[in-house]
Amino acid sequence: MRKKERYENILAWFRENVPIAETELHYENHFQLLIAVILSAQCTDKRVNQITPALYRDYPTPEALAASSPETVYEYIKSVSYPNNKAKHLVGMARMLMEDFGGEVPDRMEDLLKLPGVGRKTANVIQSVAFNKAAMAVDTHVFRVSHRLGLVSDQCTTPFSVEKELVKHIPEADIPIAHHWLILHGRYVCQARSPKCDSCGLRLWCQYYGQKYKVHKDSKEAAKK
Ligand code: SF4
Repeated sequence: MRKKERYENILAWFRENVPIAETELHYENHFQLLIAVILSAQCTDKRVNQITPALYRDYPTPEALAASSPETVYEYIKSVSYPNNKAKHLVGMARMLMEDFGGEVPDRMEDLLKLPGVGRKTANVIQSVAFNKAAMAVDTHVFRVSHRLGLVSDQCTTPFSVEKELVKHIPEADIPIAHHWLILHGRYVCQARSPKCDSCGLRLWCQYYGQKYKVHKDSKEAAKK
């Protein structure tokens, strides 16, 4: 199957079957989203959502968080992964927002990347979710699902190369939601250890499924001979 055809069919299926796809992190403004996304690195959204209400309540603004200390913030976030580093990042991020960005979350990639705790993936999530920009954050689910479906080639071995390939083929208007389509599909259907291929609506166009079926068919035919 040609790549163009694969993209068209897969995107059409998502448009029809998953018309609404959003982040599962809880937040009410850009600042809270940034906190949640920093906390979600190597951690589940569910766990992050359990601890953010108290954090948002006691540190509602960058100013309030900037005036705190990593030691104090640690007590709020100690149940997430890497709490020491994340506590330092959150306070450092709030201080930089106050000192360099007038207390606002910036929307430019180069500015976001200056903030403590913000790498390319986090910056892309903020650009996409907060500012609806055509940015594709590649996490472990997007990386795996894109490869299995055959949206990206085996040569795409880094998140950045997957990001570039996806952005090249997905229409700009679909990029913000496509990020969520791939994450949610990876989280609930195309899971790492046991993808639920039998109930997956994408198997007609899925490279992994096609290869698996062919192997299965070939081995049956070989057994008949
Ligand atoms: S058919 Fe299987 S491998 Fe392909 S996307 Fe669906 S769950 Fe994943």
